[in-house]
Amino acid sequence: MYDYDLLVVGSANADLVIGVERRPGAGETVLGSDLAVHPGGKGGNQAVAAARLGARTALLARVGDDAHGRLLLDAQRAAGVDTSGVLVGGAPTGVALITVDPSGDNSIVVSPGANSRLTPADLRDAQALLAASRVVSTQLEIPLETVVETVRNLAPGTRFVLNPSPPRELPREVLAACDPLIVNEHEARVVLGGAAGGGPEEWAAGLLELGPRSVVITLGAAGALVADASGTARVPSVAVEAVDTTGAGDAFTAALAWRLGRGEALAEAAGYAARVGAAAVTKEGAQASYPTAQEVDAL
Ligand code: ATP
Repeated sequence: MYDYDLLVVGSANADLVIGVERRPGAGETVLGSDLAVHPGGKGGNQAVAAARLGARTALLARVGDDAHGRLLLDAQRAAGVDTSGVLVGGAPTGVALITVDPSGDNSIVVSPGANSRLTPADLRDAQALLAASRVVSTQLEIPLETVVETVRNLAPGTRFVLNPSPPRELPREVLAACDPLIVNEHEARVVLGGAAGGGPEEWAAGLLELGPRSVVITLGAAGALVADASGTARVPSVAVEAVDTTGAGDAFTAALAWRLGRGEALAEAAGYAARVGAAAVTKEGAQASYPTAQEVDAL
């Protein structure tokens, strides 16, 4: 019935990555490795992660009419993502400047570029794509008005998943559509408006009160916590040696969205997504680190 298991509405960035011994503080300069350029952006990452797992995936995004934009489109197509919804032009392609230290921790600065020109009107023009998708996933590296318009244009029966990153407080209309809202600890605190005492169980309860039908809190190596009206559960990850955590959350979100669309229960889908996230941290980069379904099964 649906042409796509997952439509990702979101950002596409060129990730410019430099390895450093120590990430610089304010006013500080450090020397790093040779520059590496990788396709990234939370939307692009999610689309590639889902397609690599075998999901029929489409991307609705905007890139610049430039070399970075072509690199990103090539990467999406190589992974098997349908890019007919990717708009070109209006601003330079978005760029993320990423430093990674030997422990795998990173610092990131994003220039949104064309991502900030993905408008509500672009969403209204994409009705056919939205109607053809079982699950729609977004993040906040595109304008919030565009996320709101996505929610307003969801076809009846299409499931909506949001990872509010970079985080901000969200309109009730968007929160109420989320099934689930997926956050890490930092994002949970911001969405809760700073009023986040206690631990993940308390944050999940607080987030559910804001209106989403379900909530997932990712906890790095500790896995995730899932919560909905039926209760709360911890979902463990797999013990792995972390090499680079860039994009682990995007892989988790994509896998979760796809498995929920297949009809799995929240905890079951999160268990699978945790294994996908774990596999993603064992390799360098974001999209380059994403596993196939066979690799997840072997973990
Ligand atoms: P990022 O912003 O770096 O993409 P995030 O903070 O949104 O990540 P994380 O909680 O770091 O998300 O990771 C997402 C999921 O990936 C976790 O819920 C977990 O299942 C898995 N994961 C991440 N890091 C590890 C690790 N070191 N070992 C095992 N699993 C991990």
